[in-house]
Amino acid sequence: MSDPVRSLLAHSPQELEERVVALGGRPFHARIARRELLTNGVLDYAAMTGLPGSLREALAAAVPLLSTREVTRTTARDRTVKLLLALPPRDSREATVETVYIPPHEPTSPPPEGTATPKGATLCVSSQAGCPVGCPFCASGLAGLARNLDAHEIVEQYVAGRAVGPIARSVVMGIGEPLLNFEALRAALEVVHDEMGLGARKVTVSTVGFPDRLARAARSKPRFQLAISLHTPDDDQRDELVPAMAGTPIDAVLAAGDDWFAVTGREVTYEYVLLGGVNDGTGHADRLVRRLAGRRCTVNLIPYNPTEGLPYARPESGAPEAFRARLAESGIVATVRWSRGLDSAAACGQLRLRAGGVTTN
Ligand code: SAH
Ligand code: SF4
Repeated sequence: MSDPVRSLLAHSPQELEERVVALGGRPFHARIARRELLTNGVLDYAAMTGLPGSLREALAAAVPLLSTREVTRTTARDRTVKLLLALPPRDSREATVETVYIPPHEPTSPPPEGTATPKGATLCVSSQAGCPVGCPFCASGLAGLARNLDAHEIVEQYVAGRAVGPIARSVVMGIGEPLLNFEALRAALEVVHDEMGLGARKVTVSTVGFPDRLARAARSKPRFQLAISLHTPDDDQRDELVPAMAGTPIDAVLAAGDDWFAVTGREVTYEYVLLGGVNDGTGHADRLVRRLAGRRCTVNLIPYNPTEGLPYARPESGAPEAFRARLAESGIVATVRWSRGLDSAAACGQLRLRAGGVTTN
């Protein structure tokens, strides 16, 4: 017997059929309800006109449409929308995650040269509530891991994002380390791919790149592109910047990236947070070139987004472009990704876990 408070997507299709039948419906009504929510974006049972009225009422009383609840919505000056979603309490602990809807640039305000310009909105979703990796420049890891997200809690972020507007692509670059909750993420992205119509080329998952986990992920029919957060060409510095991977040599991470390319046929993007005076100089650029030489990949340079209380600074104004040019001279394609939503703390690394579902910015 299903737990009565489980939401629609917390049920497998089979379980939902059983539930619907128990509530007096026909098995195919379960498929209709799922399609209304996932494919058509209908957020109210009452509006699911393909279902008999009595079943709509019975479902509304018995099966919550969503398990996550929007707590706040913050819109930045550049129209980036940050949603704070409360997860259902577990072991009487509450947790929240953040999902960010990033609309395309207005044609009247062209982005700086060398900046990636995605068309259509990008949704940035979280894979965990909190993060156990502990990168010292990232707000998401400050409080550690609260809990893993279930697959349907990841899917519900897409549902919530699409309620803001159409989604052209998505990045799993919110809170959490995707490879540490990979089964749930894989299942969620399957739903997002099959039932919400977001193609594998439109979804990018960013990870610190645990090699063994990455090797397994490459062999799991991944429905996404891969980005690996590298951040430095130097082993000792990476141990500091990505503490949970201390002791894993950069060569092992790059070898896992090569393996991913060999198995999936899709190139890897390496991400590199530019921390002023820490990893953004020409020496770092040159050593990064040597590390990446001969690889088919691109590099995403992300100027550090300041977070209160963290001991890092933005790179000086010319540094990101100089770093990019240095890579380009050696034939490595790099883009500088200026984050959106800075004024509402919705940019990379500024998302943080808030317990209790209460937040102010
Ligand atoms: N845990 C995964 C995905 C989430 S973080 C990962 O680390 O890859 C997504 C990206 O934002 C990562 O490349 C991360 O290094 C970067 N990031 C984290 N904090 C940042 C900050 N304060 N400024 C800019 N980028 C940041
Ligand atoms: Fe976790 Fe990624 Fe933040 Fe590191 S950068 S603490 S892995 S979310």
